[in-house]
Amino acid sequence: MTEPEDASRRRAIPPVICYPTATLPRLSEVQVARARAGWRKVDEVRVAPRDAAAFSAKAGQAFRISCIEGPQVGDLNLWNPNDFSERFYSGKTRALHGTHVTEGNRLWSSFPGLRPMATILADSLAWYGMDPFGGAVHDVIGTRCDPYTKTLLSGGQYHHCCHSNLTRAFSDATGKSILESEAYVHDVLNVFMCTGFTRDTGQYFMKASPVRPGDHLDFLAEIDLLGALSACPGGDCGAEHSSDTAACFPLLVEVFDTDLTPDWIPSPVNGYDRSHGR
Ligand SMILES: [Zn+2]
Repeated sequence: MTEPEDASRRRAIPPVICYPTATLPRLSEVQVARARAGWRKVDEVRVAPRDAAAFSAKAGQAFRISCIEGPQVGDLNLWNPNDFSERFYSGKTRALHGTHVTEGNRLWSSFPGLRPMATILADSLAWYGMDPFGGAVHDVIGTRCDPYTKTLLSGGQYHHCCHSNLTRAFSDATGKSILESEAYVHDVLNVFMCTGFTRDTGQYFMKASPVRPGDHLDFLAEIDLLGALSACPGGDCGAEHSSDTAACFPLLVEVFDTDLTPDWIPSPVNGYDRSHGR
């Protein structure tokens, strides 16, 4: 196929940011300071390797996800416990904040809510930035490892992919059946995972996470949250996932009251009138 005469001119057109964030609502410095102050632990949940666990955080509480024993990636789902149809919207969070999230970024909910579910208060891996391969930490580009893709690509039946782990955790937390629960599992925030797209083929890649015991990602819960975190069977995701091959470690979720907790008011749901031109 021959290129058009003006191919180089077309390629030279500079990109524009799809969603400039200058008007995106964000926490004030005062709110961030109060959310980071006066932490009093109220709960903790340990996530076993190759399994998932659910946790709850009230609006205005903080929660911390920690690496505790060895490099480990976590797949995070979030729901509004009063309406499970409002859940974390990985794709829109990516469109607004970029392929990877860090301090100050918000995790947005699905339509029609499209409001902040949580804000990242602190990221001990913020130093990592973007490496020479284009890799960065905490992505919202991967979906979650799942048994369907595993079966498609290599056959077999594997039951400890993050998709299945999150399904069981949601079922245990809500009492819903496994099949009903599966429909509520959604694209994740890949906590501590180091990923990017290859420059030559644009393929999704992963590499060993730089996370080490003691590293953590802290969030303010902006609405009441039911969360589920899976300790991915890929471990640090440096080699493979969807198998029992990789070394896997537990993760810890801790929930805290903060100075902000007593008087935090969640953002209202999105203001679009939903008439869609009719
Ligand atoms: Zn996984």
